[in-house]
Amino acid sequence: MRAMSKVKLLRPPTSDTQLRVMRGHVREHALDRPAVYQMIAADGEIVYVGKSKQLRSRLLSYFRAAFPEDKGARILREAERIEWTYVPNEFGALLNELRLIKRYRPRFNVAMKYDGRNYCFIKLTRGPAPKLVVVRGPGSDDNALYYGPFMGAMGVGEALRELNDVLGLRDCAADQRMHFADQPELFDTFPRTPGCIRFEVRKCLGPCVGGCTVQQYDERLFLARAFLDGVDDGPIERLRDDMEDASERLEYERAAALRDKMRRLEALRGQFARLRFAVENLSFVYTVPGFDGADRVYLIRRGLVRAEAAVPKTMDEAAALMRLIDDVFSPVERATTQIPTHEIDELLLLSSWFRRFPDELHRTSASPAAVAAAS
Ligand code: SF4
Repeated sequence: MRAMSKVKLLRPPTSDTQLRVMRGHVREHALDRPAVYQMIAADGEIVYVGKSKQLRSRLLSYFRAAFPEDKGARILREAERIEWTYVPNEFGALLNELRLIKRYRPRFNVAMKYDGRNYCFIKLTRGPAPKLVVVRGPGSDDNALYYGPFMGAMGVGEALRELNDVLGLRDCAADQRMHFADQPELFDTFPRTPGCIRFEVRKCLGPCVGGCTVQQYDERLFLARAFLDGVDDGPIERLRDDMEDASERLEYERAAALRDKMRRLEALRGQFARLRFAVENLSFVYTVPGFDGADRVYLIRRGLVRAEAAVPKTMDEAAALMRLIDDVFSPVERATTQIPTHEIDELLLLSSWFRRFPDELHRTSASPAAVAAAS
């Protein structure tokens, strides 16, 4: 409710007469079945997108809001009409709602999006000398790469610090100016001292002060990405070697510190492994009974609904579904924790759906061809 109060009324409130027209329209036309709906202002702006298992009851509840501050009342004050699309089932309603919100970013939906989820992401920034940072959520307006989601921002942040230190990657402010060693013509315009102590203590290659070439920095970045993709354990191996060297030299305090660093990176690697496992396990054919017999098949691969179709009723439809399944599941895809921004919300939605309703997993099959054959 606090978030809702941040949504300012941008236009004169909808008149009581118009509200009666809208309510009458709902009463006359809306059915109690799964649907997604849109509240639309007079100028065509979609101010809110919602979903319901029982559309008619849900929409009528908006008109019963007891107080002007209530969510329903505030949304209606900006809407001039309500449109809806029926979907076959609750899962389809959730999916469509998410996709409409991402497409239109309605102000009330955005304002209500309470970011209390305690997961975080690792973001690989763009620009000269990209860096890895922990962020609470993926940005909607950048082209950065994101790894995650992960639990425990503090632990992930500590592990990322070790990764940066081991590989010599920068972790300074985004606006820190960079000067690579292979940009000598620019040298006079840049400071000759690094922006922080990490270069002097050999924890950063020093791209701000000509400490490395673009290629040298990119090579380290490549190693970081390989680690985050789970294909290279180099950073951990390097710490292990240093730890064993320290131990042989009887530098036990240093060896213990290196062991702790290594454990933090191992914990991060463990989180990545679990994420990859989750992503890979969200790959199956999901058959959902639909309203009035409109059963649907959702082809889910790596946490995304790649395609959907009606459950086939004829041999031709079954053959078409087989081809669709082949199109979705046959192409080889590399296992990675690098998830494009636009896919993260859908991955989270699917994870949450199957966590909330574990029995739904009984409707899934990891053997697409067998499911299609049985349809
Ligand atoms: S040494 Fe320079 S590039 Fe590296 S973290 Fe410090 S300010 Fe950034």
